[in-house]
Amino acid sequence: MANPSTNFTMKLSKIVGDRTAKALLEELGLETLEDLLRHYPRRYVVRGELTDIEALNEEEEVTILARIESVNVKRIPGRKGAILEVIVSDGRAKLILTFFNQAWRAKELRAGREGLFAGKVGLFKGKRQLAHPDYLLIPDGEDKAEAISDFAGKFLPVYPATRKLPSWKVAQCVRLGLDAIGEIAEPIPNQFLEALKFPNLEAAIRQVHLPASIEAAERARERLTFDEALSMQIFLIQRRNEIKKQRTKARKPQPGILEKFDLRLPFELTAGQRRVSKEIEADLFSAAPMFRLLQGDVGSGKTMVALRAMLSIIDSGGQTALLAPTEVLAQQHFKNFQKLLGDLAMRGMLGTSDIATRISLLTGSTSADERNEILNATRNGEMGILIGTHALLSEGVDFQDLALLVIDEQHRFGVEQRDVLRNRAEFPPHVLVMTATPIPRTVAMTVFGDLDVSTLDELPLGRTPIETHVIAATEKPAFLERAWKRVIEEVGRGQQVYIVAPRISATDNSDFSSFGLTPSELAQAKRLSGEVGDTPEVGKHSVEELYPNLRDGELKGLKVSALHGRMSTAEKESVMNRFNAGEIQVLVSTTVIEVGVDVPNASMMIIMDADRFGVSQLHQLRGRVGRGAVPGLCLLVTSVASGTPAMMRLEAVASTTDGFELSRLDLEQRREGDVLGSAQSGATSHLRLLRVIRDEEVIIRARQVAQQILQNDPELTSNPALQAEVDKLRQEERASYLEKK
Ligand code: ADP
Ligand code: MG
Repeated sequence: MANPSTNFTMKLSKIVGDRTAKALLEELGLETLEDLLRHYPRRYVVRGELTDIEALNEEEEVTILARIESVNVKRIPGRKGAILEVIVSDGRAKLILTFFNQAWRAKELRAGREGLFAGKVGLFKGKRQLAHPDYLLIPDGEDKAEAISDFAGKFLPVYPATRKLPSWKVAQCVRLGLDAIGEIAEPIPNQFLEALKFPNLEAAIRQVHLPASIEAAERARERLTFDEALSMQIFLIQRRNEIKKQRTKARKPQPGILEKFDLRLPFELTAGQRRVSKEIEADLFSAAPMFRLLQGDVGSGKTMVALRAMLSIIDSGGQTALLAPTEVLAQQHFKNFQKLLGDLAMRGMLGTSDIATRISLLTGSTSADERNEILNATRNGEMGILIGTHALLSEGVDFQDLALLVIDEQHRFGVEQRDVLRNRAEFPPHVLVMTATPIPRTVAMTVFGDLDVSTLDELPLGRTPIETHVIAATEKPAFLERAWKRVIEEVGRGQQVYIVAPRISATDNSDFSSFGLTPSELAQAKRLSGEVGDTPEVGKHSVEELYPNLRDGELKGLKVSALHGRMSTAEKESVMNRFNAGEIQVLVSTTVIEVGVDVPNASMMIIMDADRFGVSQLHQLRGRVGRGAVPGLCLLVTSVASGTPAMMRLEAVASTTDGFELSRLDLEQRREGDVLGSAQSGATSHLRLLRVIRDEEVIIRARQVAQQILQNDPELTSNPALQAEVDKLRQEERASYLEKK
């Protein structure tokens, strides 16, 4: 019963022929009938309603419906051949279509006709144009017969398409695909279909491609979106049930390090920290392995809570590990823990009490000798806390009794990765995941629906809020001058300053992927900065350019250093140590300082080209300042114009320090798949329509339905169609893990 719908897996070559099938596969990644039918239209053009030309974005692949206004053949001076210039219009704005040496097209491209035109919007002498667009003319009076077949409906679907496969060719294929549909098994049980007033799956698929009305298309889309949310929720609930069934070693709380540690803390735990610590402790000493997400805004004291949990495990005789996404962050945790624990983590050293434990750092750059020694101490149980990067997951890292695994910044670790360590322990260890960014409730429920969630919703007392301002560097250069003076003032008061640049060197594009921008934001950022395609833009700020300029210019006389990912581990470590110790006053850096870096004396941050960063990332970055007693100041420097979406994003960041609110904003545009971290491209992802924030209601409803369905039938034995959908998600996640390895 693996394939409940009879012919969904049919290869497209059987439906559209070998050549077209090859193009569909190569251009759009579509291989089976289901792939094709799940390639949903992006939108619909309504016959008679011309596309708003003004709204087209440069560099965008578009399909528009427009009317031909004039046709003109131009000779090219001094060259052979001619240009056919066709001007099309939506009644307001105009767009130029150009064809080289194809004057014969003037016969069919006649003024007054309407057509679909597809191509990439380019700019030529300040005017927008499509060069050599693919087109399909709406048949006029003379060839009506053809019209019937190609334009059967009033609503023409516009598909994600490529130059070789324009939207209407995809539409033709889809029509053949719809004819080939056999029996489709219905994954949503009847009672819910009725309650939700959804069309059945077959109707939904037909209506999404060839809607009878816009309302019908909407309903179809809603239903198909719901399908995605439903299988996602079932996937998560099933996984959660599997976890809950597990049993782990029973442990008892014992007096020891934690007590001593708490006595030494220079501050009171917040009410939130106490509440969350209780939730966690209840889990740690129960028979089922904990699987808990710890979330809270930057600086809310998550790490403190995690460390306390680790200490209570050590007191009860178990070992703990902390997995961090980057070396800098692992280092920071290590240093920080060492400092907080003092002699409590110096087991075996002279004069330490016998309750003391051991803490070590294991990363890719740990020397072989040291590594061996660490692995031994880990194996024989001496090591209470092992901190590290991916190196912790490598072969040969064996614990005597790993009882608690803390994972920092879950976004970057897949489920499979966290399972590597879990599976290696004799008893499944408890897992505590700390998120990098606070996440709205539904997102937590959706993306981490297999975890219990603890939230720290207040900051420790005495924090001075960070003040954030946007500096429009091109419109108001004097403000940037002021900013450098302010750096000197801060340093004069004994404080330290971060200056963050989006890239290492001027010609370097490599940092982009980690910027936290959605693809569309990135495209937008590039467009606004006048950058075309993938060519590295000139004149944008980089560490290698800023560092010497500031050191010898505006910030002359201050102790300035640079930090970026291309430096050796030893260099990075030395710079971080000197910054920690206050020997470096101004640190010019890439986002390597993004998360977790904790230098309370740093009071100011300037983020250059701030429009290059995502909302949550900016929030993370500025969380590095204002950790001490003095107020923090963050300046977002940008050259984008006011009123642009990029500027609005920056203004939003400046207007609030509520990480939950910002994270909502950040997530609004992301697809579920992007948030999950799996499946990068829409075409191959199983989750095509679902958007985490926009579809909040859908997700909540889907979770309820999922719970009801699974209550009576936890393995979905009576609904193989639905289980098949869920299995696809499972496979996708596995595949994405393999890719990352
Ligand atoms: P997070 O991991 O949530 O970003 P941390 O645990 O790193 O936050 O805490 C940020 C800073 O606040 C650290 O310097 C930490 O020592 C300090 N801190 C933690 N809890 C408290 C508290 N209850 N009162 C005062 N300071 C605290
Ligand atoms: Mg932290």
